[in-house]
Amino acid sequence: MNEFKDMLTVSKPDLPDFDRYVAALRDIWELRHVTNRGKYHGAFEERLAGYLGTDHLSLTCNGTIALEVALRALEVTGEVITTPFTFAATAHAIHSVGCTPVFCDIDPETMCLDPARIEALITPETSAIMPVHVYGRPCNLAAIEDVARVHGLKVIYDAAHAFGVRLPDGESLLAQGDISILSLHATKVFNTVEGGAVIARDEGVKVRVERLLNFGLDHSGLVVEPGTNGKMGELSAAWGVLLLDDIDEAIAHRGRVAARYRERLSKVAGLTLPAPMPGVIPNHIYFPVLVEQDYLGGASGVQAGLVDNDILARRYFYPLISNIDSYASLPSAAPEKLPVANTIAEKVLCLPIYSTLALDDVDRICDHITAGALQGVARTATWGR
Ligand SMILES: *Cc1c(COP(=O)(O)O)cnc(C)c1O
Repeated sequence: MNEFKDMLTVSKPDLPDFDRYVAALRDIWELRHVTNRGKYHGAFEERLAGYLGTDHLSLTCNGTIALEVALRALEVTGEVITTPFTFAATAHAIHSVGCTPVFCDIDPETMCLDPARIEALITPETSAIMPVHVYGRPCNLAAIEDVARVHGLKVIYDAAHAFGVRLPDGESLLAQGDISILSLHATKVFNTVEGGAVIARDEGVKVRVERLLNFGLDHSGLVVEPGTNGKMGELSAAWGVLLLDDIDEAIAHRGRVAARYRERLSKVAGLTLPAPMPGVIPNHIYFPVLVEQDYLGGASGVQAGLVDNDILARRYFYPLISNIDSYASLPSAAPEKLPVANTIAEKVLCLPIYSTLALDDVDRICDHITAGALQGVARTATWGR
C-alpha cells in the first residue's frame, strides 16, 4: 500500500477546488483586505452558522484559542471539571487561563464525561464543566445541564469533533451549553487549514467573545480589557467558504467507509466497535475500535502491523492527558480514579477514515487486521512488536 502512505499520513486530503481557491485569492489580492473581518470572513461566518444551525457564532484562528476565550468570556476561575479522554488542548486551555483541570471518569457507552461522577468532584473552587463530545458522540447533555444548574456552574462544550452533528430532535450539537467551541484544523472533518469557532448561547456573550478575540478592543477601537488575538484571516475564511460546498458529500462518503468497516469488523472476536448513538446524525470524524490485549498484541500491536503495511492508524487518545507528567500529580489524575478512561485509552485505535478513502482500500485495511488474527499465534509474534 505504498502509494497510500502520504494520504494516510496527512490523514485527510480535504482541499477546496484549486481553481476556485485561486480565483478567491485573486479577489482578496484586489480587495487588499486580508484580515480583520473582511468579505470572506463575513461570508464564511454567516454560511457556517447557517449550515450548522447555530446563532452567535464567531470564527477564530484555532480551536485552542476558542477554548481559552470561552473560559475568559464566562469568567471561569479555580477548578474546571473535564474529561481525560480527549486531545491535549482541552486540559491545556484550562491550564493556560490559570485554572486547574479536575479529571472526571468517562461513561463506557458515550466515552464522554460520566455525569454521575461529576458531583463528587465539585468543591467551592469549581466554576465550570468542560465536557468533550469525543469522536463527535454527544455527551449526556441533560444530565450535565442538571448538575451545572444545581451547582451554578458554567458549561463549555469542547465540540472540536462535532462539526455538523445533529441530535435526535434535529437540533445542532454545537448549540449546547453556555458556549460550545469547534476546531477547524486540517485533521478534523471540515477544515480551514487552521481555524475554529466559538458558539455562544446569547448575544451578550458573543460580544464579549469577539472583544477578547480582538485584543479587548470595543467597537470604537478602545481597549476596554485584556484580550488576545484569535482572529481568522481571509485566506482561511475563503478556504472554508469553498469547502463548505462539498462537505455533505465528504461526510456521506465517510459514512460509507464507516459502514464498510462495521460490516467487516463488527463480528471479529477481540474487536469492539462503539455502537452508533440512536437517532444522532453523525459526522464520522473518526472510526475508533477497541482492541483486546490478546488480539494481535492489542491496540499497539495492530497499529504496528498496519504501519508495516504503510497504513497509519492513530491511538486517539493514548496516553491519557491525565497521565502526562504535568498533570499526573493532580489528585484527580490518579489512574485508579479514572478506570474507564484508562481502560479505553489502552484499547482504542482509530482506523483511517477520510472523504477520498476508497472502499477497496478499506477492505485491504480490514484484510490486514483480520488476516493476522486468522493466522493466530505465529502472526501475533510478528505483529506484536
Ligand atoms: C483538535 C482539538 C482541539 C484543538 O483544536 P485546534 O484547532 O487544533 O487548536 C481541542 N479539543 C479537541 C478535543 C480536539 O480534538
